[in-house]
Parts: sequence; C-alpha cells; structure tokens
Amino acid sequence: MTLWELTKRVNTEIRPERFDEEKHYTREGEVHCTSSAFLVNETLDKALVVYHNIYDSYTWVGGHNDGERDFLSVAKREAMEETGISSLTLFSSKPVHLGFLPVKEHVKRGEIVKAHTHLNVTFAFLVSERETIRVKEDENSDVRWIKIDDLCTLSKEPHMIPVFRETIENLRCIASEKREALQKLPEKLLPWYDENKRDLPWRKDKDAYRVWVSEIMLQQTRVEAGKAYFERFMRELPTVYDLATCSEEKLMKLWEGLGYYNRARNMQKTAKLIAEKGEFPRTKEELVSFPGIGAYTAGAVASIAFDQKEPAVDGNVVRVLSRITEEYRVDPKELFSSMLRPIYPDRAGDFTQSLMELGATVCLPNGDPLCERCPMRELCQARKNGTIDLLPVLPKKREREKKNIFVYCIRTPNGVALRKRTSGVLKGMWEFPSFEEECLSSLPIEHAEVTEIRTHTHIFTHVEWNMTCYFLTAEHTSFETYREDEIRKNLSIPSAFRWILK
Ligand code: SF4
Repeated sequence: MTLWELTKRVNTEIRPERFDEEKHYTREGEVHCTSSAFLVNETLDKALVVYHNIYDSYTWVGGHNDGERDFLSVAKREAMEETGISSLTLFSSKPVHLGFLPVKEHVKRGEIVKAHTHLNVTFAFLVSERETIRVKEDENSDVRWIKIDDLCTLSKEPHMIPVFRETIENLRCIASEKREALQKLPEKLLPWYDENKRDLPWRKDKDAYRVWVSEIMLQQTRVEAGKAYFERFMRELPTVYDLATCSEEKLMKLWEGLGYYNRARNMQKTAKLIAEKGEFPRTKEELVSFPGIGAYTAGAVASIAFDQKEPAVDGNVVRVLSRITEEYRVDPKELFSSMLRPIYPDRAGDFTQSLMELGATVCLPNGDPLCERCPMRELCQARKNGTIDLLPVLPKKREREKKNIFVYCIRTPNGVALRKRTSGVLKGMWEFPSFEEECLSSLPIEHAEVTEIRTHTHIFTHVEWNMTCYFLTAEHTSFETYREDEIRKNLSIPSAFRWILK
C-alpha cells in the first residue's frame, strides 16, 4: 500500500497539494511519516510501553521513516532499538492506527524542533513477556509492561488518549475477526467437504489401521502417488496383525520408493505392540505413546477413525489456518491445535479431513490458492488484507550438508555386489558398496575392469549426496553377491541407489 493510499484512508479531506509524497517520507515537508509499534503480550491484555523523554509521557515505540518506505520494518526496528527486545511477531498487517498526530515545539539534542505533524502508521506486534527489556537512554527513561487499558490513564498527552483508545479498540476488533474466522470453520467447511471430497482409497471406511497407514504414507508422498502404494500395501498386509508378522524384507519392498524407511520400521514395531494388546489404541494420549506416532498422526487417527475431537495439524493445515487467521508466528502447530480443539464439531473425523482437503485442493501448497472456490473466502484475513503470499511464515531452512559418495556397482559371474548399510542415512538398507572416499584400488575384487563412470545427485531432507558410481566387471569379489533378477524382485533398493540398477 502506498503512502497516498494509506493517507486517503486516514483523511479523505486532505488536499492533494498539501501532500508531497517524496517530502513526507523524509523530515522536509510539513508532515513527517512515522511508524510505530504497539507491542502487546500473547493474551493481548498487556502493552510494552516506553517513557518517552520528548513527550514526557508513556507511549508506544516508533520513529521517523526518514526516507524508508517500508512502514513495517521501521516500526520493527524502532521497537527493538527502544526496548532491547530481540524478537517480535506481527499481529496483523492491518494498522491499528493510521492518522495525523500533532507534535508541539520541543528541544531535541539541544536544538529547537518546530511544531509539525506526524502521519503515523502503527502496527501491533506480539512480544513474549519473557523477553529481556532495557531503556535507550537518549530517548526514554523507562520501559515497562502495563495493563493495556492503563495506557490511557498513564498518558500525559491529552491528544493521545483518544488515539490510544481507538488503537486498543482496533486491536480487539482484529482479534475478534480472527476468532470469528476460526469459529466459523466447521459450519463453512463441513458442507463444502460433503460436496467436494475426493474419492480416495483410505476413505472407503474408517478402519484405524487403514487411516494410520495412509497418514504415515502421505507424510512423504503426494496423494496421487500414494494411492498405488496404499492399495498394494493393503493387498499384501490387510490387517495390523499381517504387518506385525511380515518379514522386514517384505515390508521394505512394499515401502520401496517411499523413502524414510524408519517410518516403516516404526510402524511394524507399533503393529507388534498393538497385536499384543489385542486392540487399536483410540485416544491421542495412547496413540502418541507408540513408536513413530507423533501429535499429528495421533490426532488424525483419533479423529478420523474414532471421531474424537482431536485436531491434526500438519504443514497443510498450518498453511490454511495461517492464512485464514493471518497468523505470523513461526511453526504455530501447537497454537492452532489449542485453538481448534474447543471448536471441534461432532463430525470430528470429517472436520479433520475437510481442513486437509482444503489445503490439498484449494489453498494449494505450490502456486496460487483458488480463493474463488474457497468456502472461507469471505472470512479469510490474509485474502482481505492482501497478504496471502506472506503466509505461512516458514522456519528458516537448515542448510543441506553436501557429501561426496563413491559407489561401486560390481558385476561378477555370480551376481552383483550388494550389502546392508551399517550406519548413517539409510542405515540397515541395501546398497551397492559405497564410501565417502575414492577407494577403487583397495576394493576386494579380482581381475576387474571399469566399464563406465556416472555421476548423480541424490537429495535427502538434510543431506545432499554427490555420487560418483563406478560400473565394474570382476571375476571375483569378497562382497556378497546377488542375482540381478532376485535383487529386482525381492530386495528393496532405496532410490538413492535404484538409478544404478536401471
Ligand atoms: S480464501 Fe484463499 S488464501 Fe484464504 S484460505 Fe481460502 S484459498 Fe486459502
């Protein structure tokens, strides 16, 4: 939003000739742009204020834009400088105050500053009360948390009292719009879900085992690709008892291509415990006590299979809810779970799935959301405020570690050399012998010849392998060897190595 648009919202009476955008961003014009931060705690009942030396009164923090056009970053910077806080989160992109404020003549650093007007934009930010605070001696003499309504009584500037009152009112109004958007979710989403839900194999019934397997599979694969894996898995292992008793080799083969093999191993550990127990756990508390079941999976199984009012908040749901409530906190999974729990309707499983469905088919992960088709479009705060692109706020990505890996695909008359990895990523999985250093000359092979060298990059979540593969023929090797048809049929080769087989 440009300054002119902001100003029009403040005062439609302003004479255009009085308005010189260039000058007002600096201190040259008769109006100076200033950006302020109204710092509030998470429960919105306290404000962090400073005793400002110039105004001789408690007030919010802020400062001149001095040529800077990004009001938000000026407000943020000033808040940090004036109070010493190191972290704050935008509450809403909608200003809590936008208006002209008179500034009387005063002395600053020994110089007289003539009376002038501030065009002030104030944003609310959330700050933890645990943050360390300090004064900035040349600007303020106190920084403190006060009850939010005490700001009007503490202020010694009569003209600011209605401004603060209006600001607090605006803050509460934004909070109530966010709350209302959230509370309307069940009534808006359930009818939409009934009309629009996709026909997916794991939705054919509410069997807890099927729900659980599908949720684990879908954590790492797209729905379309997941369908075939799910159907094959259910054909081979139709009950939790089948999963509990199948061989690890068979399980890995069924999981081949899905990655995250530990998830499959944990599923089998859990299946064994459930088989011993004789029944599937029904509550979130019970479910999270099993290997590989986290808060999300437990919520999904408890709500979808047993209609318990338990939210299941994953990245998709975070995206949808961050936009609907214009939430800027990083990783708000727990926050959203606690906000959703009290509004869960009786059709708990359908509500959980409706949120997932909205994230998968309308409020899309990649690309523009299809807001025109969204049942929440009238209530969505990010849509109203034009901030869809900013949300969700994602945590900073950990830089991927890069590793050079040397792989040896050794073919002998008896078969291909293969072994199980004993450490690191893919521990316990089959591999063509691989090393972090080039060791062709020390391999346990006889009468060998390199026929081809190929390179390949494989990306894991936190590691990137830059692989160099030597294709060799040898008369003999002391590595275990396996026939190629046996490898293809029975052994699960992770995709980091499967390209070598092709
Ligand atoms: S209105 Fe648009 S941005 Fe908001 S939830 Fe719906 S699809 Fe997502």
